[in-house]
Amino acid sequence: MYDVIVVGARCAGAATALLLARQGVRVLLTDRAAFPSDTVSTHLLHPTGVARLRSWGLLEPLLAGGCPPIESISFRAADDLVLHGAPYACDGVAMSLAPRRTVLDAMLVEAAGAAGAEVRVGASFQGVVWEDGRAVGAEFGGRRAFAERAALVVGADGRHSAVARQVGAKTVRDAGTFGCQFYGYWRGLPDVGTQIFVGGGQAVLAYPTHDGDHLVLVGWPHARFAEVRQDIDRHFLAAVAAGAPAIAEHLTDAARSGRITGSGDLGNYVRESSGPGWVLVGDAATAKDPVTAQGIGDAFAQTQSLADRLPAALAAGPRAVDAATAAHTADRDRAGGAAFETTLTFAMGGNSAALLPALRAIESRPDLISMFYGIYAGQVTLEEFVAAAGQGATDPKA
Ligand SMILES: Cc1cc2nc3c(=O)[nH]c(=O)nc-3n(C[C@H](O)[C@H](O)[C@H](O)COP(=O)(O)OP(=O)(O)OC[C@H]3O[C@@H](n4cnc5c(N)ncnc54)[C@H](O)[C@@H]3O)c2cc1C
Repeated sequence: MYDVIVVGARCAGAATALLLARQGVRVLLTDRAAFPSDTVSTHLLHPTGVARLRSWGLLEPLLAGGCPPIESISFRAADDLVLHGAPYACDGVAMSLAPRRTVLDAMLVEAAGAAGAEVRVGASFQGVVWEDGRAVGAEFGGRRAFAERAALVVGADGRHSAVARQVGAKTVRDAGTFGCQFYGYWRGLPDVGTQIFVGGGQAVLAYPTHDGDHLVLVGWPHARFAEVRQDIDRHFLAAVAAGAPAIAEHLTDAARSGRITGSGDLGNYVRESSGPGWVLVGDAATAKDPVTAQGIGDAFAQTQSLADRLPAALAAGPRAVDAATAAHTADRDRAGGAAFETTLTFAMGGNSAALLPALRAIESRPDLISMFYGIYAGQVTLEEFVAAAGQGATDPKA
């Protein structure tokens, strides 16, 4: 008998297991994958997410392992409109990071194990064990079949969550799919922080990650997904050449590691996320287009909120557990609503009429440039930024 069974062991599930196990909760952390392993995701983490890693004691090992800090962003919206600056600091942490998922997820799993969680990989979730309408455990197949009981089943199994299906979690908001992204890794680009080039119906990003590699990414409207997929390399390299020629010159075959990959499975949704004996976290619960790069940070925020509530609730019994998971979900929706809307606006590419004049107005205002980057980090709404830039106002967070 465990207190909590977690299905899915990447940034949402492993972090949940880590924070709970550190508080003495008996946790079984499961995944059908083994670690280290990669997943289809770019991995820019804003200072908000980096600050959480620091509070969990994982920032120093990540930096010591060679993940380069990103201390500035340059955002080019036109040849004559380039914003250089840094995002808002969060709890004194000003850097962004782009840890490879092979490293970040494995580090979280290892830390969860070190904190006392039992980790079982190669364990494929098959179904929930029910008793009187309440989830009381989970069944697994894979290398070996097993079933375990727990007071709470946590579904952290991503966008196509089998736990969400099993518990009958309805999609309470389906806001559609607007983008697709493809990315690869190249060595030898100059390390000048994160570079963003938008325009011509596409976005190109480049930022440094482990081992001297840069991740280079192209985002298109979803309407182009089928066409791009026909010949990914050709479309990708043409897009970088058109939108970011300074980056394109570095994208030689010799400098590339691995293939260009990506996804058009970038729907924006919110699912019913808690019920009797179960809760969903991370993409299993809600996901947004990665245009604002918030998924990993969101998973961390949800994890923290759950871990702050659950130990006392587990000690108090099933009703308290269900009340805690319901309160967690309500808080998540209140706190994340504005960032969800802003991400939708960016994903639909519908912000340029209001945004371009605002960006021109702040070119020489580092405080408001930080505020602009705060939109991506979910700290500022688009409306707040446009209003502040329009009035030449002082950054309210400075
Ligand atoms: C193209 C792309 C680019 C992105 N870029 C960024 C970015 O720059 N920054 C950012 O913050 N976010 C980004 N995201 C979003 C980010 O990847 C997700 O928000 C994040 O991975 C969610 O983490 P998770 O732990 O909830 O789920 P996942 O990372 O999807 O992990 C789910 C885990 O559950 C396991 N699992 C699934 N089914 C089962 C089962 N039946 N049994 C056992 N285990 C199971 C899987 O093996 C997996 O390990 C991007 C996403 C995409 C697709």
